[in-house]
Amino acid sequence: MSGQAHDHQVLAGEVAQLRADYEALIQFLYLAPVGLVQAETDGSIVMMNPISAQLLMPLSRDGGLDNLFTALDGVAPDLRYLCDQYTRPSGKICDGLHVHLNAGGAGKKVPQILSVTLLKLDATRLMAVIDDVTMQVRRERQLRQSDAWLNAILTGITDYALVGLDARGAIAEWNPSIGRVTGFGEGAVGQPYSIFYPPDAMTPEHLHDRLRDADRDGWSMDEGKRMRADGSAFWGSAMIAPLPDREAADHAGVPAYCLILRDITDKRGAIERRRREAFGDHLTGLANRRAFFEAAEQELVRSRTAPRPTALIALDADHFKAINDRHGHPGGDAVLQHLAGILAETFREVDVVARIGGEEFAVLLPSTDLARAAVVAERLRAIVASGVVHFDGSRIRYTVSAGVACLLDGEGGTDLLLKRADQALYAAKRAGRNRVERWRPELAGTSTHPADGGSDAA
Ligand code: GH3
Ligand code: MG
Ligand code: MG
Repeated sequence: MSGQAHDHQVLAGEVAQLRADYEALIQFLYLAPVGLVQAETDGSIVMMNPISAQLLMPLSRDGGLDNLFTALDGVAPDLRYLCDQYTRPSGKICDGLHVHLNAGGAGKKVPQILSVTLLKLDATRLMAVIDDVTMQVRRERQLRQSDAWLNAILTGITDYALVGLDARGAIAEWNPSIGRVTGFGEGAVGQPYSIFYPPDAMTPEHLHDRLRDADRDGWSMDEGKRMRADGSAFWGSAMIAPLPDREAADHAGVPAYCLILRDITDKRGAIERRRREAFGDHLTGLANRRAFFEAAEQELVRSRTAPRPTALIALDADHFKAINDRHGHPGGDAVLQHLAGILAETFREVDVVARIGGEEFAVLLPSTDLARAAVVAERLRAIVASGVVHFDGSRIRYTVSAGVACLLDGEGGTDLLLKRADQALYAAKRAGRNRVERWRPELAGTSTHPADGGSDAA
């Protein structure tokens, strides 16, 4: 593969990662089942998510949606008044106010009742949380569910620092949310936003890369360790988005970007749990099939540009049906867990050990040639053959067969590597099981399924 094509692939991977991160935020903010509108204190809308546009559009009399109060005037005229009367520097102006719309002709699927929560973020900004509660009200299920959502959203909002950045990435203005999340005071103004990152975590080039990404894509998002003014660390996400009218603001100290800094320390556990669920095998704790294929693909792509051997060991427990028959499915599971334990102990940190089928396992060994992989596989086979699983008062002995294959430059990809390892594995089965076979050219074209042409039908 050419260097350019490779760069393209790497870039595509990074874009996919960014997109995944962005989608996580989108899920929270934009695709939340509620409308979110940021407005100035006079109701002028600064930004809104698609749901709020959907919910508010039927209310607009002139087709425009530039002022929140104007949009809601016909149905919630007191909102502007409530806002004017609100004297505290920040807080809830109203909480779950029900707005009855009476809009839309018969049969039209438009909301009838909206719940509106209005927050004062600071002296100049409002945030409205708008929810279509028609169905909840109609079914008299009330707002229990919706409240949980609103609470989640509101908690999220207090977790945000909203930071204006100028065209060079310097902090343009201070507001209390910055102090709340990061502990930085007014002295932060004029400093680069990298002050929120650990020292050495971001070069000046990185800092500008993010701004350019935001210009190009409309946003730039990352997640990782962040620093407070007192030097303590937290886990945070940072999204940078260009401000809509930034052309007029191309000089120092004038906001050109908005940085949304979130403390997601609490959510980190949940994020990692989700990652484990997506990429881990629940029975053995090893990587699952999907994680294995992703890792293998990535490694083989890398080994095409910087050639080095990549080995794969395919393993299958011998006569596993008989083990299940004799000891029951839980007995079989105990054997699989035992085998997974041995696999986890035998291999290096860089090796990818996965359960890719019922009693089939695969190990990817980066920068390892066929001979070395075969030695490790043989060691593993011997450990298994000499071991015993204690289960429910019985002692279960079992064996494994393994096939080893290797690609020198990644050419042919995961499919070819796995196919060859499988061909070697079934050569081992045919040769009597409890053994390791290396792939060799004569095996090309042989079956990778035990039922076809196996000489030792148990
Ligand atoms: P061979 O030596 O040819 O591999 O014989 P085998 O009996 O192992 O044959 P095969 O691979 O076809 O059978 C695998 C069996 O493993 C069939 C299936 O019931 C069992 N199995 C698959 N997944 C699980 C699992 O998660 N737990 C248990 N206990 N058994 C499983
Ligand atoms: Mg088997
Ligand atoms: Mg099998």
